[in-house]
Amino acid sequence: MSDTLYYVIPCYNEEAVLPETAKRLEEKMNDLIRRDVIRQDSRVVFVNDGSKDSTWDVIVRLHEGNPLFSGINLSRNRGHQNALLAGMMTVAEYADMIISMDADLQDDIHACDEMIAKYYEGCDIVYGVRSSRKKDTFFKRFTAQSFYRTMDRLGAKTVYNHADYRLMSRRAVQALGEFREVNLFLRGMVPLLGFRTDTVYYERGERFAGESKYPLKKMVSFAVEGITSLSTTPLRMISWSGFFIFLVSLIILVYSLIRHFTGHTVVGWTFLAVSIWGIGGLILLSLGIIGEYVGKIYLETKQRPRYIVEEYLDDAHGYRL
Ligand code: UDP
Ligand code: MG
Repeated sequence: MSDTLYYVIPCYNEEAVLPETAKRLEEKMNDLIRRDVIRQDSRVVFVNDGSKDSTWDVIVRLHEGNPLFSGINLSRNRGHQNALLAGMMTVAEYADMIISMDADLQDDIHACDEMIAKYYEGCDIVYGVRSSRKKDTFFKRFTAQSFYRTMDRLGAKTVYNHADYRLMSRRAVQALGEFREVNLFLRGMVPLLGFRTDTVYYERGERFAGESKYPLKKMVSFAVEGITSLSTTPLRMISWSGFFIFLVSLIILVYSLIRHFTGHTVVGWTFLAVSIWGIGGLILLSLGIIGEYVGKIYLETKQRPRYIVEEYLDDAHGYRL
């Protein structure tokens, strides 16, 4: 007896790739169903994250053509992480296992065979990890890998080179739903869940069509989001740098006193000017970091909904707000 699989795919302005993604997933799903690896009522769910192009129309057409495809329309753009969570939470009660994947076919869809096999062996979470990033541009590879390393040093445990291609069992997804934070960084949150976990390696390809929806600005804010969500080490670093600077100022004081009593007055305002600017800069930076956390607390206390599903297109359990 096989289990029900739901593929959850966040889509933001993906009209260029969706038809191809759908075609390949349809073949894959049909094959899995035929081999009785997954149940007949399995689905591919596209989450439209407030796209500005015709992505939603494409999804509606796919759904009309084949009930294998269902769609979730969010009321506006909320970003990759929220779209993913919206999809997973909406389908959690119908699926035994959920695989999340990007729309752009950069992740090898055949890696799911191994993921599903591990699920049947009893794993609740299976991470897809890129064995190489040869196809990424040097810039993307460099920024992404520095990001994973920084996260690690700051004590925020993430799975190295794992994006959001992963399989989760229903109970793991439901446990994730218990995490109430509004600032989402799923690849840092999932490892906190526990459960039996495993990894599957795959080669990351190029985007099939369209452009990356993660320009540098979004990547930087995603990194800041990740670090401040998972780690308070930056705050500790502020305390340490404050302590260190205080020590330096003591040394300078002693030095000045010695110079004074030996008859040499400390000369030069350069030194003073540099100190003022240096310390001023550090103070501002520290305030900025504290501000990041305070801002986060502010947003969390509002307890705003993390996403709003406007419409869920599905033959069996769809609805509309
Ligand atoms: N995405 C989304 N909302 C956004 C930005 C991106 O749902 O605001 C989706 C996008 O459609 C894709 C996935 O998130 O399926 C990853 O985006 P992308 O492939 O552009 O990122 P990259 O692979 O370049 O890091
Ligand atoms: Mg991509």
